[in-house]
Amino acid sequence: MNDVAIIGAGLAGLAAARGLGKKAKVRLFEKSWRAGGRMSTRTGSYEFDHGAQYFTARTSAFKSFLDPFIEQGIIARWDARFVELDNCTVTSRRRWDAGNPHYVSVPGMNALCLALAKDLDVHYETRVGSIKPNGSNWELMDTNDQSLGSYDWVVTAIPAEQVSAIMPSKFSHHYAVQRKSMLPCHTLMLGYRQAPEFDFDAALVKNSAISWISVNSSKPGRPADFCLLAHSSNAWAANNLGLEDASVIELMIKELGDISKQDMSNAAHIDLHRWLYANIEKQTGNQALIDADNRLAAIGDWCIKGRVESAFISGRKLAMSCPL
Ligand code: FAD
Repeated sequence: MNDVAIIGAGLAGLAAARGLGKKAKVRLFEKSWRAGGRMSTRTGSYEFDHGAQYFTARTSAFKSFLDPFIEQGIIARWDARFVELDNCTVTSRRRWDAGNPHYVSVPGMNALCLALAKDLDVHYETRVGSIKPNGSNWELMDTNDQSLGSYDWVVTAIPAEQVSAIMPSKFSHHYAVQRKSMLPCHTLMLGYRQAPEFDFDAALVKNSAISWISVNSSKPGRPADFCLLAHSSNAWAANNLGLEDASVIELMIKELGDISKQDMSNAAHIDLHRWLYANIEKQTGNQALIDADNRLAAIGDWCIKGRVESAFISGRKLAMSCPL
């Protein structure tokens, strides 16, 4: 049986590991202390899903995969009051419903990945620094150049920009990876003792520094305290990468106030997360980049589009197509 190392315990890596099942002996390495990647949740006195906000399921494969988790209550529908805004003007309004379900993990967005990781061999707080040849195998090294073991196959399940840094030069898909360009995003998290007035739970915003607003506390299974989250547009984040955190926070709070026509500056809790590799436009090409000759592969949402379902599809493709 082949020994396979998967780098990254986001949805793509976990879906690949689950899909490989008994075909291989799989070990995952994750730099964070828990699974989830960009399907992440920040807990504390106020709670936020600071990466993905919700997800949809368009393919039958993803729908079937979600079914047992829906049954267990780990996935639930978020029937948000949804608006589209052109800056501060509402251009459309509807409530999400069973006709076109929008899902979240419960009690936080990371819950699905935590459940998937449960029986897997995942080494947390372990950042892979390089992949070196070792006879006919590949040896993983951490960032202190300590060995993490020798494997027949190595699969990266990390953002494209980070793949180029660690994948051996032999990898036949280097050019394809280097052509992928992921986009940044700034995420503002605000907690309020007294709930401000919002007549929507989720908003897609155009012509603003802000591209998305969620009342995080309106999602199913969340604590009651009013938690508001705003994602900047990718372009605004890219143009303001050099700004200090305090300035990003001030500008985004002001923009939120302009959009919602109220003073948003009296939050009891303020936090900011900067995503350097948040998202990617729709891609063409392989759903998983598999180099069978060298027993190397790269997967992730970025093979398809910056969406939760894409991460699953890429991981599943690897599990189904990898010649083990
Ligand atoms: P990731 O989740 O990025 O997982 C990669 C993992 O690899 C991470 O856990 C990371 O810690 C780990 N890692 C990286 N380098 C190393 C290393 N060297 N060694 C060990 N571990 C490493 N999608 C939607 O469908 N709907 C949304 O509303 C939505 N909104 C989003 C908003 C934001 C701000 C962001 C950031 C993303 C959003 N997405 C959304 C996209 C969605 O989150 C991603 O498509 C999906 O989570 C990607 O999963 P992945 O497994 O491919 O990658």
